[in-house]
Amino acid sequence: MSLDVALIRQQFPILSRQVNGQPLVYLDNAATTQKPQAVIDALVDYYSQCNANVHRGAHYLSDEATKRYEKARVTVANYINAQRSEEVIWTSGTTEAINLVANGAAQRLTAGDEVLITEMEHHANLITWQQACKRSGASLKIVPIHNNGELNLEAFHELLSERTVIVAMPHVSNALGTINPVKQLTEAAKAKGALVMIDGAQGVAHGAIDVRDIGCDFYAFSGHKLFGPTGIGVLWGRYDVLADWPVWLVGGEMIASVTYEDASWGELPNRLEAGTPNIAGVIGLAAAVEWLQAYDRADIWAHEQALLTRATELAEQTPGLKIIGTAANKIGVLSFVIDGMHPADIGFILDKQGVAIRTGDHCAQPLMKRLNVPGTARASFTIYNSMDDVEALFKAIDKARKMLA
Ligand code: PMP
Repeated sequence: MSLDVALIRQQFPILSRQVNGQPLVYLDNAATTQKPQAVIDALVDYYSQCNANVHRGAHYLSDEATKRYEKARVTVANYINAQRSEEVIWTSGTTEAINLVANGAAQRLTAGDEVLITEMEHHANLITWQQACKRSGASLKIVPIHNNGELNLEAFHELLSERTVIVAMPHVSNALGTINPVKQLTEAAKAKGALVMIDGAQGVAHGAIDVRDIGCDFYAFSGHKLFGPTGIGVLWGRYDVLADWPVWLVGGEMIASVTYEDASWGELPNRLEAGTPNIAGVIGLAAAVEWLQAYDRADIWAHEQALLTRATELAEQTPGLKIIGTAANKIGVLSFVIDGMHPADIGFILDKQGVAIRTGDHCAQPLMKRLNVPGTARASFTIYNSMDDVEALFKAIDKARKMLA
């Protein structure tokens, strides 16, 4: 069965607004997705009916808020096929989730240890490990990519060794759309005894995620790229690994007992969730997951691939346009440059026509340098984009080319 995109679009109020006097064509989904009415309603309902702090109050609302909050943990755990809901740690997003892992790791890494990342990292998975290595004396090893944006698998296997303590890699590149063979790479890393952390910020919204099938130790993602609210994300980790992972943030909620001299930490998930959490965000994220689960993953995948195929065809017919990132296995991301046009100018002219894309280095400055581009223009597709959106994108690009010629 195929998706009824018109019906899906009706559920996103923002998609019917105009920008710059033009109907909005929203193609910046890799930066953040829009929110369906079901998510907006869940947030309003929480604040208007149920607002209270969780795990604390001895009163009705606190009890109800706690139940909704913990039910959300189960929803998200099931969505990624976690074995236990306590393996789901709420964070503010992917960035905080990776920081939690890297800051914990920094307390254990020593000189001689190696951390393996890739050339295609978002800064969130680059600087975190770079700084963890600087602090601990471990070495940061970087797996190169091929010019088409695929990971150099041979180099990965060469760099992986008994010294590798952690492999941290993106499931999907935000700048190029490349999908990495994370299951296969995880298997190789585990055979060397390394821990594996996957930056799933771009992976989570496009295909079914099964953390047990991948076999990794940590998987991080953000709610806002999954039709949920900003300010909420997830660190999933294997129970035995998380259970004694060094704590990073300390404070209320995460303790077993406290004296003036010392403190001891509580059980999972609390030990890694200090302070009052983003309760509304958690409830909104669960609403997003429930909303998304109404659609068949294979249908979503086929729809996004059809949009990417058409966009790639049109890109190849556009004089002077070069696609950056042509991996065989990609999500619906089209990154490109056009001869003689700065990406920022392309973005500006498209915006005037109502077409929202992202331009710049995509938080991947070293990757842009490696690919020898100042940045790219990037259109990214999701469940609510239509073929008309793709046509509108290229109509706007043609206009930009004529204006800047
Ligand atoms: N990693 C990747 C691959 C991303 O695309 C992003 C967001 N652009 C992040 C990490 C960081 O996510 P957030 O800003 O939501 O923490």
